[in-house]
Amino acid sequence: MRTGIGYDFHRLVEGRRLVLGGVEIDSPVGPEAHSDGDLLVHAVCDALLGALGRGDIGVHFPDTDERWRGARSLDFLATVRRLLDEDGYVVANIDTTVVLERPKLAPHFGAMRRAIAGALGIDPGAVNVKAKTHEGIGEIGQGRAAAATAVALIVKR
Ligand code: MG
Repeated sequence: MRTGIGYDFHRLVEGRRLVLGGVEIDSPVGPEAHSDGDLLVHAVCDALLGALGRGDIGVHFPDTDERWRGARSLDFLATVRRLLDEDGYVVANIDTTVVLERPKLAPHFGAMRRAIAGALGIDPGAVNVKAKTHEGIGEIGQGRAAAATAVALIVKR
């Protein structure tokens, strides 16, 4: 068994789509990013890459590479799935928390779990998504940024 942890943080700006866990959510602001800025999926990628001992998302999908401009982050997970497979590991479970002031994410948890699990080829029951606000405090609380954390457990096939 191996575990990994992932964390991501993005500034939120006007004129960007808000995609979290592969699900587009209605919002006047979205993450400033090279890819689609799906910080939940980025945290999950880092948790899995960490569990594999394979570095981080910046190593595999550098933001200096034009190939990843506007990239769909769920496609990053497809690459991580291939690495898991190469190394002979399967995902036991993934747990996540998104920290975002608004909008409420609970109505989207099911779709996010299905999208993340789908990209990894695992049961949606192995993926959990939670959300918190930042109680109006700081950059996240003011709605100018969002963060996500993830932990993953992988086991040898
Ligand atoms: Mg990111």
